[in-house]
Amino acid sequence: MREIRWLTWEPFEYADCLACKVLPVCMGGCGYRAMFVNKDRPACGEWKYSLEHYVRARYHREKNLKAEAKLPEMV
Ligand code: SF4
Repeated sequence: MREIRWLTWEPFEYADCLACKVLPVCMGGCGYRAMFVNKDRPACGEWKYSLEHYVRARYHREKNLKAEAKLPEMV
């Protein structure tokens, strides 16, 4: 019975997920955690709390790499 519940689980049954801006990439996280560990609450993870940080860090890294590539060599 738990397996059927797990197989048919989807994040659209949670109001938090329906209102969440990262739902398209997160899709509710781990269904097992949401159902059995968090007792029917979504298992929010890094998508919700770290996505903006990851995107900003990547942007700055790429920007710095491009800036370094344009500098003349100092020898
Ligand atoms: S971050 Fe949390 S609320 Fe948002 S979609 Fe994922 S599990 Fe649902």
